[in-house]
Amino acid sequence: MATIYTDKDATLDLVRGRKVAVVGYGSQGHAHALNLKDSGVDVRVGLPEESKSRQKAQAAGLSVLTVAEAAREADLIMVLAPDEKQRRIYEEDIAPHLTAGKALFFAHGFNIHYGQIKPPPEVDVVLIAPKAPGHMVRQAKALGLSYARGIGATRAAVLETTFREETETDLFGEQTVLCGGISSLVVAGYETLVEAGYQPESAYFECLHELKLIVDMMYEGGLGWMRYSISDTAEYGDYSRGPRIVNEGVRAEMKKILREIQTGQFAREWILENQAGRPSFDKLRAEAKAHPIEEVGRRIRELMSWLRDAKKDSSEAPRKPRPAAQA
Ligand code: NAP
Ligand code: MG
Repeated sequence: MATIYTDKDATLDLVRGRKVAVVGYGSQGHAHALNLKDSGVDVRVGLPEESKSRQKAQAAGLSVLTVAEAAREADLIMVLAPDEKQRRIYEEDIAPHLTAGKALFFAHGFNIHYGQIKPPPEVDVVLIAPKAPGHMVRQAKALGLSYARGIGATRAAVLETTFREETETDLFGEQTVLCGGISSLVVAGYETLVEAGYQPESAYFECLHELKLIVDMMYEGGLGWMRYSISDTAEYGDYSRGPRIVNEGVRAEMKKILREIQTGQFAREWILENQAGRPSFDKLRAEAKAHPIEEVGRRIRELMSWLRDAKKDSSEAPRKPRPAAQA
């Protein structure tokens, strides 16, 4: 059983006794910085001079510095820049200011686990990974819990984990189930129906739109609640057909993907891809954007007033607008 911590296990005093720098002001960064500020913590944000988020952070009443200035001033540095940029940011702007006793925090284990960032031994290294927030190494546990309380994580629960477990399960989950698995399943179902001559609109509703209803029920009460809420016909189809879709071949591929994560093969591939300027990534992204399901979806969502008002269209946005959560 996992060790779980809540408010009673964490004191705000430790993190309030620190000068905290939050590097980055994106999905995670803005939430950490603002929650810490609300918790009475002395927090500053580190961003490049040219960052478009500087204004946002200032408007929210936060003090904004360059990353190097923030890292020099602070004795607790939370790195919330994109994972693939962290090594350079660390080497150029953070490492020179990492004196003994400072603490370096991460929200994902990737760069520590795969050896991209190697902090000196006299610095505490902590992982607080939001979702089922994470853990810490060396003597930094109490400070880690204090920070977790500062961002409000202990109000729900903080689950003790390791850099290895957080990194490997996070990558596995997003590749095989949450992002990769679901997207491929949706597209394959859609294409099967359209190729069989059904209307793209019907295929979109059945294979993508209705997913939310199902996932909401799973989220609220597990698989059992979802199955209780659907018709018996749907439930029978679930038990009798589902395992034929996620069959032995799929499970074997999942194991292969897990091994690629555990051996560092995936990490090497992604690091090299970034060093090469992301040629494959850009091509895959462009191909995915051009898939007909996206065009059908745009037309259908245009008809739904509640979606039209909160328009989320990746073809118009340079970066994905997303909630600070999960994958
Ligand atoms: P994000 O939304 O892409 O935000 C990254 C932020 O870093 C942006 O504010 C960006 O500036 C800034 N940045 C870019 N280059 C920088 C530089 N050279 N120096 C300083 N800041 C720079 O990233 P995120 O999703 O919050 O991810 C941050 C960390 O949290 C990652 O380790 C990620 O794995 C982890 N995490 C994310 C989630 C999630 O759901 N998003 C969940 C758990 C853990 P601009 O604003 O100018 O673009
Ligand atoms: Mg994740």
